[in-house]
Parts: sequence; C-alpha cells; structure tokens
Amino acid sequence: LTGRLNQAFKNITGRGKLTEKNMNDMLKEVRMSLLEADVNYNVVKDFISNIKVKALGTEVMNSLNPGQMVVKIVHDEIVALLGTSEEAIRYREHGITTVMMVGLQGTGKTTAAAKIANVMVKKQNRKPLLVACDVVRPAAIEQLKTLGDSIGVEVFTLGVETKALETAQKGYAYALENGYDTVLFDTAGRLHIDEELMQELADIKAAIHPDEILLTVDAMTGQDIVNVAQSFHELLDVSGLVLTKLDGDARGGGILSVRAITQVPVKFVGLGEKIDDLDIFYPQRMADRILGMGDIMTLVEQAQEKMDLEAGEKSAKRMMSGQFTLEDMLEQFRQIKRMGSLGGMMKLIPGMGQIASQMNEAKTENEMKHMEAIILSMTLEERRDPSILRASRKNRIAKGAGVKVVEVNQMLNKYEKMKQMMKQVSAMAKGGKMPNMGA
Ligand code: GDP
Ligand code: MG
Repeated sequence: LTGRLNQAFKNITGRGKLTEKNMNDMLKEVRMSLLEADVNYNVVKDFISNIKVKALGTEVMNSLNPGQMVVKIVHDEIVALLGTSEEAIRYREHGITTVMMVGLQGTGKTTAAAKIANVMVKKQNRKPLLVACDVVRPAAIEQLKTLGDSIGVEVFTLGVETKALETAQKGYAYALENGYDTVLFDTAGRLHIDEELMQELADIKAAIHPDEILLTVDAMTGQDIVNVAQSFHELLDVSGLVLTKLDGDARGGGILSVRAITQVPVKFVGLGEKIDDLDIFYPQRMADRILGMGDIMTLVEQAQEKMDLEAGEKSAKRMMSGQFTLEDMLEQFRQIKRMGSLGGMMKLIPGMGQIASQMNEAKTENEMKHMEAIILSMTLEERRDPSILRASRKNRIAKGAGVKVVEVNQMLNKYEKMKQMMKQVSAMAKGGKMPNMGA
C-alpha cells in the first residue's frame, strides 16, 4: 500500500488550487484504504464526495503538493468525524446513576461493564453494583460474577429462572436499599439483531430509564456494523460507544461508520481481556490507524513543519531586508514557541547569543505572552502600521488583551528597538560584514 501511495504522491505535482483532476488519484487511494480498514462502503462513498466538495478550490499550502493537501484534509475530517476524547460517564447529582450495556454477542459488553465498574471504584470513588441481565446462558452470569469478584464489586443476579426485565428492576431496588450510587446492567446479546432481544432491551430501558446506554462495537467488526448500530440506536437512543478489542490487528474502520451513522461519542476503548485494559478514546490516533499508514501522516507532519518553517523564513527575510512589522514580531514569537526554548532560538540568530545568555528566560517568556496578546488584539492595519495608534486605539487594545495601556506602550517601545536592531543587522549584512556578537 505504501508503494501505491508514494506513486500517487509522485503523480500529483504542481501547486495552486485543488481541482477535481489533481485530487482524483489521491482520493482513489484514500477510498481503497478506508475500505481496507472496513469502513462501510456507503459511508466511504459519502465521505469521499463530501471531501471533494469541501476540498475543491482549496489553496494548496505552500509546502504541500495537492496529494498531500488532500490527505491532510482527509485526516482532519476523519478526526472531526471521530469526535473528541473527553467523553465520560455523566453522573447524576442526586440518586443512582444507571448505565446499560448493549451490543451483539461477543462484542465485549460483560468485559467492558466490569472494566468500567473497576474505574468507577478505583478512580472515581463510586460504589457501583453490577446487575446480570444476560439470563440466557448460566455461563454469562458466572462470567460476570467472576469479574465482579476480581474487582471487589458486588454482582446482583436472580439466576436464569428470572426474566431480564425483572432482574433489572429488582437489581435497581436492591441498589437503592443498599446504598449503591451507580448501577451497571449487563444485558444479553445475539449474533444478529433479533426482535425478541430488541424488545427485551426496550423494556429494560422503559423500566429503568438509564442515564447512559453504551453500545459495544468490536474493532474487528465488518461492513454490517452500520445496520446493527442503526437498529440499536433507533430503538434505544444510545448515549455512548465502547470500542472494544482495539488491541488486535484490525484497523477498526467500523467505528468511523458507526460515528457517521449515529454521531454518538466514543466513551471508552477496550485494549485487551484484562480488567485494566480500558482507555479513553484518542481520535487522532484512531484516524491514523483507520487511514492505515503512519508514514502518510509522517509526510503530512513533515510538510506542516516545513510550512511553519517557510512562514518563519519569510518573516526572517523581511526582517533582514529592514522591514519588520508587528506581524513579523508575532511570527517570531510563534517560531520561538515552536522551538520550545527562547534561549535555544536566540542562539541561532546572529548576534543574539550574548543577549540570550544574559536574560531571564522565564520572565522573558511571560513578557512575550503579554506582547503576543497585545498584538493579537490589534487589527491587521494596526499591526502593519503601528504609527496610527492613538490613545483611543491603545485603550481598546489594552482592554482586549487584558493589560494596562502602559504595557501596550512598553510593547511598542520594544518593537521599535527590535526594528532598529533589525535595520542595523540587515545593513551590516548588506555591507558584507555579518555581525559577530558572540553567537
Ligand atoms: P459479550 O458477549 O458482549 O458480553 O462479550 P464478552 O465481554 O463476554 O467478551 C467476549 C470475548 O471478547 C471474551 O473472550 C473477552 O475476554 C474478549 N474481549 C472483550 N473485550 C476485549 C478487548 O478489549 N480485547 C480483547 N483482546 N478481547 C476482549
Ligand atoms: Mg456478556
């Protein structure tokens, strides 16, 4: 696949805007890649046509070729589709919070219920009860009991004689009587959607009104997950997804399909059979995985870095030619931030080494933040020509940046000094004499 992608990159050259023509090859590759990751066929189709519309006419960033630009847009779009990572169980302020696990058989409901209960106990100071509503197979109840034992969480069960709905109701009553603040209902699954099961789940929902209904989605799942997720969501209005078995080889494209269809957030990720193998969801990582090639993202990241560098170089060039606007100063601050350390950056600029070694870095960085805020509060016109700044404008800017007018003036003084220095440096450079002040 990598070879194919590289070929696609080679075929797509030239800059300018993204057109149907210069996007096509790469979009074909992206399409193949998503299908290989088991993203549903229809989801891929919609996704690609959305990307086409969105990307068409987009200016290709300076250091990217159209192919790379397309991949960047695709990646960003997948991340956006996958949602955020800060999703968690929403606990009730008063009363018992109820969580219902649903999903096809073998997707990891029971395991996830125990893993989540474990996090509740260990990290969230909660007192959860597990209720065994999978009453079809005795083994299912035993499995939950074993897991509950291993994490010290009580499991409520009435055995296989009692119907799931009744078990759920009595389990809730038991939790109320015994001071539990959270109840997790483990339900039965089937290999396929079936009427009887769906009715059972709908009845439990109607009786309990769960605060969360979590649908488990197996990372190894294939094309048909779309129908499954749709059925569950239509009937139950699912509130969160648990992506299980992500420790396997599967690229896990199914989750993209489910997200596209349901918009429901991914709240947890299962990373193994052990009780601690639970994590929050990282959309960036997942997007890399679904796109299927770390190397493609490396390319895009490199391009991004190159782009940042080009912006820096441009502003450095302007500086050296004696032009130095507040916008350039802002760009310099940003460069410094990206470099991580002010001292490190200063040492790279001719003549700055000595200054760098003399200054108090923490104080300077703080000052820099203020100056940045001030520049950001200016209009473009003001940044390019600060001589138009009178009292009323300065007042507005100070307010916007949350500083005193004095600080605005100080910043402008610093800017003027820097500008003078740049002029000297550039004059010396033009005269063929590079300043050597200890760098
Ligand atoms: P349920 O039928 O939906 O309740 O599924 P189970 O919780 O019983 O899990 C089915 C199988 O998948 C069991 O063998 C679990 O140990 C295994 N399993 C569950 N979650 C994960 C996971 O995140 N990673 C791996 N590798 N196996 C898992
Ligand atoms: Mg189970």
